[in-house]
Amino acid sequence: MENKKVAFYTLGCKLNFSETSAIGRQFEEHGFEKVSFEDAADIYVINTCSVTDHADRKCRKVVKEALKHNPEAFVTVVGCYAQLKPQEIAEIPGVHAVLGAAEKFQLVETLAGFRKPDAGAPGHVHASPISAATEFHAAHSFGDRTRTFLKVQDGCDYSCSFCTIPLARGNSRSDSVQSVVERVQKLAETGVKEIVLTGVNLGDFGLQGPERERKENFYDLVQALDEVEGIGRFRISSCEPNLLSDEIIRFVARSKRFMPHFHIPLQSGSNKILGLMRRRYRRELYVERVQLIKELMPHACIGVDVIVGFPGETEGEFLETYQFLNELDVSYLHVFPYSERENTLAPTLPGRVQDRHRHERTTQLRTLSEKKKRHFYEQHVGAETAVLFEDDVTNGQMEGFTPNYIRVVAKYDPLLVGELKRLRLTAVNPQNLMEAEELGIEVFQH
Ligand code: SF4
Repeated sequence: MENKKVAFYTLGCKLNFSETSAIGRQFEEHGFEKVSFEDAADIYVINTCSVTDHADRKCRKVVKEALKHNPEAFVTVVGCYAQLKPQEIAEIPGVHAVLGAAEKFQLVETLAGFRKPDAGAPGHVHASPISAATEFHAAHSFGDRTRTFLKVQDGCDYSCSFCTIPLARGNSRSDSVQSVVERVQKLAETGVKEIVLTGVNLGDFGLQGPERERKENFYDLVQALDEVEGIGRFRISSCEPNLLSDEIIRFVARSKRFMPHFHIPLQSGSNKILGLMRRRYRRELYVERVQLIKELMPHACIGVDVIVGFPGETEGEFLETYQFLNELDVSYLHVFPYSERENTLAPTLPGRVQDRHRHERTTQLRTLSEKKKRHFYEQHVGAETAVLFEDDVTNGQMEGFTPNYIRVVAKYDPLLVGELKRLRLTAVNPQNLMEAEELGIEVFQH
């Protein structure tokens, strides 16, 4: 008998992508065949995001799309949005089941007990309150990239006033150092070249078990992974500035495996706004972090998340953020216009910023980001460096990354995929991508 087919669609962050992969592997272990979303599958799983704007509209669209490929398919929705609005999603025509954060990793077993609801009836909902999401489920993305995103932490105990993630993913919890090391060793055996450590609040790594005891911390993890043979490159996906300790920065500066690349959320350059956002640092601490990184690793790449148009952000405070970032030695910005989320504190604050201003401020900072990126890239023209090529092809071109996350373009060559090449960076093209020339020497890669 032919295997049943399952297809996935993922919205949102890398964590979601790694969890989709993990759920996909569970299906395969149960004898399912994983097919692409465009194929006719028996089951479609849509992994949603709560941070995406218009999550509802996007989810509807994907459900419709799935049923276009197979009108008889069983459609299931999981993920952050499914946890926040299970009933609403169950009402979307064509949705047969909705699973919450505590249930999504039991998807295969749970689905076995479900039949399609009667025509016109809402989908089954299987979502416990978020307080039930206490277990840690390991996950990693695999199969389509040289780089693998490895989830080592989930949930968040902070209460930033704009953020809905703690409501969608629950409290902070982690894998153990020992278990992450074993996973990394296994990944190394499969030929993975680069691992990006991923979590919701990664720097808070270490809370384990039902008691959520802290026996280990993120620094312990970084030190242990640096000893694992077989993986050439590690990156830290994102770390709150108050948790990115001096010892971690100093360690990365000494490490051969942890790349000189940091992503540190700032959100605002105004201390008043940081306070309203309930962030756990002031701008002065952020400056200290950047200065230490640049002092120890002048070539390091630093990415910054910023939110503009937060309630109460005046034109003056926005300019404070702009000025702050303009003067700071960082390499690129991820800019998000503030967007109201239900059940968070921020929408109740006075001083709503008009949408028009939110978008103008976003554009201004995105333009600044392009300038900063170009400046960072131009500083490296002429440098010889190792580039790890990935397998995405666009218009006959492929891309690879240097240790400090400079994106290098090259003509597509399947033999380059997954290869670490020593190249000379030659010029920054009009699309803000780096061009390079070959030196012909392949560098050693485990
Ligand atoms: S640190 Fe703040 S922004 Fe990040 S997940 Fe936690 S609550 Fe959300």
